[in-house]
Amino acid sequence: GANRAKNVLILMSDTGGGHRASAEAIKDAFRIEFGDEYRVFVKDLCKDHAGWPLNNMESSYKFMVKHVQLWKVAFHSTSPRWVHSFYLAALASFYAKKVEAGLKKYKPDIIISVHPLMQHIPLWVLKWQGLQNRVVFVTVITDLNTCHPTWFHAGVNRCYCPSEEVANRAALDDLKPSQIRVFGLPIRPTFCRAVLVKDDLRKELELDPELPAVLLMGGGEGMGPVKKTARALGESLFDKELGKPIGQLIVICGRNKTLSSSLQALEWKIPVKIRGFETQMEKWMGACDCIITKAGPGTIAEALIRGLPIILNDFIPGQEVGNVPYVVDNGAGVFSKSPKETAKLVACWFGPDSEELKRMSENALKLAQPEAVFDIVRDIHDLSQEQGVKSQISGSLTSSFYMPSPEA
Ligand code: UDP
Repeated sequence: GANRAKNVLILMSDTGGGHRASAEAIKDAFRIEFGDEYRVFVKDLCKDHAGWPLNNMESSYKFMVKHVQLWKVAFHSTSPRWVHSFYLAALASFYAKKVEAGLKKYKPDIIISVHPLMQHIPLWVLKWQGLQNRVVFVTVITDLNTCHPTWFHAGVNRCYCPSEEVANRAALDDLKPSQIRVFGLPIRPTFCRAVLVKDDLRKELELDPELPAVLLMGGGEGMGPVKKTARALGESLFDKELGKPIGQLIVICGRNKTLSSSLQALEWKIPVKIRGFETQMEKWMGACDCIITKAGPGTIAEALIRGLPIILNDFIPGQEVGNVPYVVDNGAGVFSKSPKETAKLVACWFGPDSEELKRMSENALKLAQPEAVFDIVRDIHDLSQEQGVKSQISGSLTSSFYMPSPEA
């Protein structure tokens, strides 16, 4: 009937924490905004339905971030248009059958891709099945600035760009203005809608109530110079003359167990909390006064929402490079590769340069886009309504995929 719930299929791959976080954010926003009107499935389609090499994307990613040079080569060598379109065309024909199985299983009315490699194959299959007018297909880009050309595909209904820079790239890559929207990076609704009071959070998380706090992390995998930076902060945040700490340190190691156990083993002169993978990042960020992180788009967007000045200490070559000027040029943070310099800077922020910290915090809040995920799902809803009207008028054919199955 006309009022049945619509199926939404979000295509992602668990490379790093970012894509999954964005997918979950969109799913939560659909529920908050539209309740039972939509059934949302988050699927790593390639992992579930395809064979090598796409089912290996997650482990190859982890391998490559450890071997950064290799990642650099892989990223750039697939950039020229002829290479990636040829490569992807080959993959598309090989995996089409598997993608079909995904369509059959979930019967999506809407497909949302949050992954740079998941436009071409599903769009190719939709076209082949004559479903391109029945299924709304959108891309949600999760890189803040420089992004890989495989994100862009002229066949999408919408391409959601997190920043103007990305929108400009989309336009250069033949997307029409009507296809492009700039709302921001989708962040979990618990982050954007939470009303959090720093004093309460400090109590709840058992932090020092008075001392300024710096949060140190390295994405979902705990990457970058976390250990060296933690040690340097252990020194710089201790005032030798007065014999007491001028700040406290929280280190979130994500899934990096080696990192957390080696930090636990150290002795500290300042209050330190070392944690593994945390599910309530909004609380930890809300309890702190600044953050040190690699240039992951998810962490950056979240820190901006909490108004945290950011010290970027590392980036994954290729995809994360552009996130650095995004933060620095907008006055929301600085880039520093040296753990010693980073530690000194935090000590200044917690001492004589507190005005600078405040200014950067204000700039961070100006850059934040807490409503992005809601703007995105509302726009998808509108698209879907338009599409419904269009296909009723044209009486477009429905693929056998979408006929009710006998057992249902
Ligand atoms: N994250 C988390 N718990 C942790 C560490 C990280 O929930 O213990 C989340 C973090 O809040 C962010 C995501 O994982 O949403 C990391 O994404 P980002 O784009 O910064 O880096 P990636 O890990 O994808 O390289």
